[in-house]
Amino acid sequence: MNYKEFNKALDHCPFCDLPKKEIIEENDSAAVLLSRSPYVKDHLLVVPKKHVVNLSELDSGERDDLFRLVFFAQDKIEKIYGNFSTLYREGKKVGKSIAHAHFNIVPKLVLGVIDEDLRDRYVYTDEEYAGKIDEFRKIDC
Ligand SMILES: [Zn+2]
Repeated sequence: MNYKEFNKALDHCPFCDLPKKEIIEENDSAAVLLSRSPYVKDHLLVVPKKHVVNLSELDSGERDDLFRLVFFAQDKIEKIYGNFSTLYREGKKVGKSIAHAHFNIVPKLVLGVIDEDLRDRYVYTDEEYAGKIDEFRKIDC
C-alpha cells in the first residue's frame, strides 16, 4: 500500500488514542512514534497527546513535555546516524499530511524530497512496524 492510499483509508486521526504498543517513549502530554510511512528509514515522530493543529494550542507544561521528547528522539537518531533534521510544519501548503501537530525527526534528510502531493511513500507492514519499535526501545540514550 502506498502512503496516499494509506492516508485516504484513515478513518480517524492516527496520532490520537495511540496504542501503547506503538509508543516508543511517552510522558504526560506527548509521545514518540516511529513513522508508519517514513521519508527515510528510522524517521521518528513526536506528537502531543492532545489533538491540536498548532503548537499555540498547548499550554507551557504540554510544550515542555513535547520538547523533552523532541530532544529524546533526536538523541536516539543521533546515536544511530550521527546527524538528523527536525522538521515541524504548520499551514496548508507545506506538505503536512496529518493535521495533528507533529515533529519529524529524520536521519539524513535531504530537503526537497518531500513534495506536496504525498509522493509514494512506503508503509510498514504490522510485523515490520512492531520490530522497528522494539529496536528503538532498546537503544540506550
Ligand atoms: Zn489527533
